[in-house]
Amino acid sequence: MARTWAAARELKLRQTAIDWLKFRTDDGAVPLTRDEILDFKFEGDSFRLQPTQQGIRKPAVFDAALSIQTVYRPPGKERPYDDTVGADGLIRYMWRGDDPALAENRALRRAMELELPLIWFIGVGMKPALFQAVCPVYIIEEEPELQRFVIAPMDEEAFVRRPTDGDTVLQATIKRYMSRETKVRLHQPVFRSTVLRAYEDRCAVCNLGHRELLDAAHIIPDSHDLGIASVVNGMALCKIHHAAFDSFLMGIRPDHVVQIRPDLLEEVDGPMLQHGLKELHGKPLMKLPSARGERPKRELLDMAYGRFLAGTAA
Ligand SMILES: [Zn+2]
Repeated sequence: MARTWAAARELKLRQTAIDWLKFRTDDGAVPLTRDEILDFKFEGDSFRLQPTQQGIRKPAVFDAALSIQTVYRPPGKERPYDDTVGADGLIRYMWRGDDPALAENRALRRAMELELPLIWFIGVGMKPALFQAVCPVYIIEEEPELQRFVIAPMDEEAFVRRPTDGDTVLQATIKRYMSRETKVRLHQPVFRSTVLRAYEDRCAVCNLGHRELLDAAHIIPDSHDLGIASVVNGMALCKIHHAAFDSFLMGIRPDHVVQIRPDLLEEVDGPMLQHGLKELHGKPLMKLPSARGERPKRELLDMAYGRFLAGTAA
């Protein structure tokens, strides 16, 4: 009886926390600082949702882990526990250490067995530390031989455990669905927040500083092999400059100088064409990340500029 009451309360707290985070993050779009995450209250009392460092949080009164955390590492710096994406597009979360019986690993396994929703805090910046809260996520499988869990972000009503046998068409469909959800709910928001934070919420080309009008653009599209979701393949661009960049109306030279397609320079139109595009021709980028390691990678800019020149010639 006591167990049932505790379990119901634990589930209620999880759901309250997830709803609160969805609200606070504009449904997963906006990252939060540690202090902002500390604002959470359950039935009037403060309740800590976030692990203090890399790893998991399992409140003492809980049966299973509540949240996991991956801290931010600038490009090129190894993460202490490298989370990897499998061929199926789903993310692997490494065990703590190599002992399956370690408390943290048991707390995660318990969340899997009970099919409980968790929160994943993913670091997108430092000073101040900034986290993307991805929730709910479910642990859908354990790969003990590889010492890791398989994690899928998806809504409660859509929760499905990955089938290990049976209908292969169904299996393939579910995997595709989960892989897509992982991209939309985890990779895209983490990339966007990391890039916008690095550019301090300003367009690299025109310095526009309104988050609602900004995108995290890929320098090399993510459909391409080199189109990695790293800040070094990203640039904060306003909607107009993002569209102009992607359609080769505007290029960016590897030395960070803006180029406008020649025929556009000849054209006479309204103020947007005049001020928003033509006058920027030959001007250097107005905003770059202050950390050198987070600036666009030269090779990627080279390649993108090559595509612009080819697109312009066509
Ligand atoms: Zn702009």
